[in-house]
Amino acid sequence: MARDPRYDILFEPVKIGPVTAPNRFYQTPHAIGLGWQRPQAGAALRGVKAEGGWGVVCTEYCSIHPTSDDSPYGFLTLWDEDDVAALAQTADAIHAHGSLAGIELWHGGSHASNRWSRVPGIAPSVIPAMYHLPTTARGMDLTDIRAFRGWQRDAAIRAKRAGFDIVYVYAGHDYLPFQFLSPRHNRRADQYGGSLENRVRLLREMIEDTKDAVGDSCAVAVRLAVDELHGPAGITSEGEGREIVAMLAELPDLWDVNVAGSLGNDSKSARFSAEGYQEPQVAFVKTLTTKPVVSVGRFTSPDVMVSQIRRGIQDFIGAARPSIADPFLPTKIREGREDEIRECIGCNICRAANNEGVHLRCTQNPTIAEEWRRGWHPEKIATYPKRDKVLVVGAGPAGLEAALSLGRRGLDVTLADRNGKLGGRILNESTLPGLSTWIRVRDWRQHMIAKLNNVAVFPGSEMTADDIAGFGAEHVVLATGAKWRRDCIGVNGMDVLDLARALTPDDVFAGAAISGAVVIYDDEHYFMGGALAEKLARAGHNVTLVTPNASVSSWTAMTDEIGFLHARLHELGLGMQTGRLLLEHGKGRVRLACTASGKESELACDTLIVATGRVPDDRLHHELAAVPRAFTLHRVGDCMQPSSIADAIYSAHRFAREFGEEAVAVPRRERPPVKDFA
Ligand code: ADP
Ligand code: SF4
Repeated sequence: MARDPRYDILFEPVKIGPVTAPNRFYQTPHAIGLGWQRPQAGAALRGVKAEGGWGVVCTEYCSIHPTSDDSPYGFLTLWDEDDVAALAQTADAIHAHGSLAGIELWHGGSHASNRWSRVPGIAPSVIPAMYHLPTTARGMDLTDIRAFRGWQRDAAIRAKRAGFDIVYVYAGHDYLPFQFLSPRHNRRADQYGGSLENRVRLLREMIEDTKDAVGDSCAVAVRLAVDELHGPAGITSEGEGREIVAMLAELPDLWDVNVAGSLGNDSKSARFSAEGYQEPQVAFVKTLTTKPVVSVGRFTSPDVMVSQIRRGIQDFIGAARPSIADPFLPTKIREGREDEIRECIGCNICRAANNEGVHLRCTQNPTIAEEWRRGWHPEKIATYPKRDKVLVVGAGPAGLEAALSLGRRGLDVTLADRNGKLGGRILNESTLPGLSTWIRVRDWRQHMIAKLNNVAVFPGSEMTADDIAGFGAEHVVLATGAKWRRDCIGVNGMDVLDLARALTPDDVFAGAAISGAVVIYDDEHYFMGGALAEKLARAGHNVTLVTPNASVSSWTAMTDEIGFLHARLHELGLGMQTGRLLLEHGKGRVRLACTASGKESELACDTLIVATGRVPDDRLHHELAAVPRAFTLHRVGDCMQPSSIADAIYSAHRFAREFGEEAVAVPRRERPPVKDFA
């Protein structure tokens, strides 16, 4: 198909200092958790992004010196020649597709835990280390600053030798150069502290040093948080953020700007932000510089992208999450296939991977970070040698993914769901406040299935074991999902008496009557308890959220949502009781116990909703497994293991990939030759 001429502007080359990007699609630096230990996996992931059409592809954060060690999280290093050889693989993989390779040189300052290197952290002043340890970062003296400038310079030279085209000076996300900028951290009384000009001095020197070292052939980019969202006490886009850009306007070859006192602000989930949400804070940058500007905002719509360029907000379309959810987004627009873009849903499961210190995961894209270790490609899947008949029962995320991927392999697929609409759990979950984008999981798969003439879809078709046995398929895949449990067993166990009248989230979605004082007991800790509480409070109910954990919806800390969620729940005036186990549901009340002291208390409760976990809906599996069969029987998704939507899709995708092959129990791993362990 031909490209829509409206989108031509997105495919214009853009000069960045001494190098030229082939188009305006710019994959900004983002963590993948593979770190310096897994260079081949990292190279393969970035190579696929370049293959998918991103004109610039950047690495994750890359430490310039052991005083900046983010263990146990995956981060890159450019500390020595081995690192040059390792990272050259990434630069080569990106160049193989004609894209520019960028590297985000990084020093975390008081943000680095140095658990691996065990050297003291450094910061502009003596300040508490920001994360994890009850420790303090050492204040840098002038000798330290000279040494630090040398590390940036040396790392830049190594980056150039490794083949990178764009080298970053990274002054965002509260890291060292930003700590110098922000008066919240910089308490120095010398030429690097006090006035803004003094606080900017180190950043200016770093840009000059980096240009001097590699600027003949590499572009030097500055990544700057123009607003740290701490109000007047910090850098703001109306105040010092603007002044910093004005002072350094023409010095770097590219400005990569964002809103980021912390990473959470820069990668807000869809629950708390819309596409393009950073525009109000970053739009001023282009008015102050002639150098190209890039920013992010979960851009998935080509029309919004064009508008960003035409309205002069930025020169590139910066993307981390949209490029994870669909590495081939640019190619799809270029080929007039924008309807096939697998849009990021803004769920931040990718951020959770980062916060948990594991490699990248994505709800929409099960192949991310599997390019090397399992050899998965987001757009290619091996054809199955025969046209066997497969029946998939259940069209939630797992059933849809199984049907689509088996269909792409060329099998003859029938997908049946008892519901009149496809989507399974997402049909309910996407009606919760802020989660409407989650329906994209269903929409994309349903749309892509409709393009395949070997997949037939039957909504409104309840399947019994007899129906399945009589269907005549050679293979049956059960994707029948899970139900919220009624027994109240949660992460912290269960000791509840008289649950007969308690509702589950499934009952609420099915329209159960809710009246009087509502108590939601959350011992699952992800989005459901908090989101239901928000929904019911907005509908005018008097809601109290009770949890045994120390904070409500505690796992949303992993998705960087917890702070925004708590603010919202406080705004709504919800009651919240933490550290409380549910003991009994009596008439008009619940009895609770403090998790620490055991002290009991009572709370008014006319409607109790328990969200403590889910159990598989595996009745069909047990029925079919118990009798002789003329077909192979399989389970995928929540009916095997109730978990996140990301896990359901991954399970179904892996099943489809490995269907007819020997299952890969241990994926490829990177480690030095065994003799090196001696
Ligand atoms: P997952 O996340 O694993 O995809 P979901 O709960 O989202 O699980 O989806 C399960 C789907 O299976 C639901 O749409 C449900 O209607 C469907 N389903 C369950 N049992 C049957 C059945 N016996 N016949 C047809 N569809 C079924
Ligand atoms: Fe987007 Fe969710 Fe995938 Fe992250 S995990 S890229 S937020 S769809």
